[in-house]
Amino acid sequence: MNKNLIAGNWCEGRSVRENINPSDLSDIVGIYAQADAEDTQRAIEAATRAQPIWAAYSSQQRADALDRIGTEILQRQTELGELLAREEGKVLPEAIAEVSRAGHIFKFFAGEAMRVTGEHLDSVRSGIEVDILRQPVGVVGIITPWNFPIAIPAWKIAPALAYGNSVVFKPADLVPGSAWALADIIHRSSLPDGTFNLLMGRGSVVGQTMLESPKVRAISFTGSADTGQRIMQSAGTRMAKLQMEMGGKNPLVVLNDAELDRAVECAVHGAFFSTGQRCTASSRFIVEKGIYPHFVQAVVTRLEQLRVGHALEAGIDIGPVADASQYEQDLNYVDIGKAEGAFLASGGVPLKRETEGFYMSPALFTDCDPHMRIAQEEIFGPVACVIPADNYEQALEFANATPFGLSAGICTTSLKHATHYKRHVQSGMVMVNTPTAGVDYHVPFGGTKASSFGPREQGHHAIEFFTTTKTAYTQA
Ligand code: NAD
Repeated sequence: MNKNLIAGNWCEGRSVRENINPSDLSDIVGIYAQADAEDTQRAIEAATRAQPIWAAYSSQQRADALDRIGTEILQRQTELGELLAREEGKVLPEAIAEVSRAGHIFKFFAGEAMRVTGEHLDSVRSGIEVDILRQPVGVVGIITPWNFPIAIPAWKIAPALAYGNSVVFKPADLVPGSAWALADIIHRSSLPDGTFNLLMGRGSVVGQTMLESPKVRAISFTGSADTGQRIMQSAGTRMAKLQMEMGGKNPLVVLNDAELDRAVECAVHGAFFSTGQRCTASSRFIVEKGIYPHFVQAVVTRLEQLRVGHALEAGIDIGPVADASQYEQDLNYVDIGKAEGAFLASGGVPLKRETEGFYMSPALFTDCDPHMRIAQEEIFGPVACVIPADNYEQALEFANATPFGLSAGICTTSLKHATHYKRHVQSGMVMVNTPTAGVDYHVPFGGTKASSFGPREQGHHAIEFFTTTKTAYTQA
């Protein structure tokens, strides 16, 4: 059994949870300890004690520790990628790429630990000098979703540690394997005991205890908008610092002058790879009428070529849906789309494979109205809808007509429209002639409107959330 890490010790849980392979429900990936509220309090106490010790380490020592973690992740990327594919259902090449990204993120933040700068100014009063210092926030609670089981934890844990914070980490229930493997690597990297704690367990128990503890000064969360609301109500009311990345309903606009092949690749890659289980997945294709029939035909043809199957099998493009409830939700939305009057042009049916798993064919709805539920609500599966638009102006209006604003894309050869879209689409990230999903790790990540709250993640901008400034006045 894989245990929780509390105060530098591997600890039994109060119960256990089986980790099941969504590509093969008879395959148990492992058995994982489940922490309770008392364990969580012990971890928070340990993190509180360890934080000043860790913050007093030199920036070189912190950088070296993060670099060691990154090196081991990269060295073991195939093995860890197999574990990730097995527990989450992402196809193996995508899983290995995710692990590799996690390794690079630790190495990036190893460098960032050496680049913490302050500012020095003259005061408005003569004889006084002002220094603006950056300091750690303290104990940071990290709560992550199941769809990127190692990359999202990495892009929160690495900056938290780089800037001298201690961490209490609660991964999603569905994917404890990658989280445990990452915790094991971090545990062996010579941090003071209690600097990093792993608590596998229920959101409503472990997560809620973290949200309510005044010792957890900051919460970095990625997950659904509903959980985000709950976090706001608990941790927000006690004025914890919050960083929340939530859902998306990301548009891909395709204009008449787009290169058709490129637009089709952007659409299929952005909407259906990783089984559509990406917050940045494009789930709305907003297509100008001149190119509409060609685009739909080409996407349907391309979807029919995709192979859906076991995530570890060679040549598979799309793995299973991650679990039973997400599978039910995806298929339910297919029924909702049909009942709303959208035309199901391709897929949307359960598939049988050699092993029992949550397989479905990628679903494409056409002739959709932008107000339909399938065009407004985040489905988080391999389901996309095509919405016709009269012209660029209407396409932009439709693109902005949801509560979300994470990522947005446009396929066009018009510099004028691409430039206008980059400025006016309501999103935190915008892509021209490239899929809405698939981002770099050294630049800011995040959204607007209901998709995000608080400072950006990733790249140098991560310093905003994981540090606080202190202004010092000195009279010589
Ligand atoms: P979720 O909100 O169900 O769970 C996310 C995490 O919150 C899990 O660890 C869960 O255990 C925990 N949690 C649940 N209830 C809690 C509570 N009361 N208190 C504290 N923690 C609690 O989300 P999910 O199903 O794991 O992930 C899918 C969602 O994540 C989608 O909406 C997707 O868009 C979003 N997501 C967003 C981004 C982004 O960066 N914007 C990235 C990936 C996923």
